[in-house]
Amino acid sequence: MVKEIQDIPKIVLHIHLDGSLDVELAYKWLVEDGYNYTIEDVKNKLQVGEDCKNLNSYLEKFDIPCKILNTANRLKVATYKLFTKLASQNVVYAEVRFAPLKHVNSNLNIDEVVQAVIDGMNEAKKQNKIYGGIILCCMRGETKENNIQVIETAKKYLDKGVCGIDLAGAESIYPTKDYEYSFNYAKKLNIPYTIHSGEADGISSINSAVSFGTKRIGHGVRCIDDEATIQKIINNDILLEICLTSNYQTEAIKGKHPLEELYRKGVKISINTDNDTVSNIDINSEYERILKETNLTLEDLLKCNYNSIQYIFATEKVKEKLKSIYKK
Ligand SMILES: [Zn+2]
Repeated sequence: MVKEIQDIPKIVLHIHLDGSLDVELAYKWLVEDGYNYTIEDVKNKLQVGEDCKNLNSYLEKFDIPCKILNTANRLKVATYKLFTKLASQNVVYAEVRFAPLKHVNSNLNIDEVVQAVIDGMNEAKKQNKIYGGIILCCMRGETKENNIQVIETAKKYLDKGVCGIDLAGAESIYPTKDYEYSFNYAKKLNIPYTIHSGEADGISSINSAVSFGTKRIGHGVRCIDDEATIQKIINNDILLEICLTSNYQTEAIKGKHPLEELYRKGVKISINTDNDTVSNIDINSEYERILKETNLTLEDLLKCNYNSIQYIFATEKVKEKLKSIYKK
């Protein structure tokens, strides 16, 4: 089965750059910066353990990646490495997301941050068969002014590597409803968007996201608590970006994961890792886990990939190219 999973073309729509930072690279840069860590120390600092109980403790694992991804070259190399890895796993299209303001410092402005990440992606695209784009994350808890700056930067680099925006961060502390301004502004500027919601917070968060007119939701799994919300997701034709292992680690889900039930009810889902390094997984291991823990088949997962093409933040030309890959 491992070979079959490797062989199917995959589409990844929800993966964070900082949470998927290559461990060897992190180790190298930490040593360069004068830290006396072993590779095991670095793993422990970047990956969640059994003790991870919620989204807030999961989010602590982003501290080091945000700290060391502090030069244009490091951002470029980290992005290149991630896209190259995804391509090697037969990912044919990927949208990689990150929060640019986390990497701004006195030597690096937001334009340089975003350009470095785009450069890394483009370099990987040149050497591999992979399409994709970069999603810029607005952050919960950030000032309105800063989030607006992220959205305006997304507009500036839209179709030049950036493909959309997102809202990330501590959902249980900063409710989705407070960020309507971000999505009204994105709508006005014609920037595609997705919203983390229904992960650490419940159906009210999902309902806010739906009311903002989103066509994609990051996670959204708490919709399982309310049939009317599930129907609303179906009726509004919204894709859920599902990240199973991450949901268990943040305890968004305890017990049976709802992805199969949602899929059978007709909710459009895409399969993702969220954070390869934080969760110590990759897209192939995630497919393997789903095949083991649910009654979904490889055929179902292939269908999820094909169905997700219409929700990607890409041109019609790229969508057609991807469809032709799946028709083979
Ligand atoms: Zn996420």
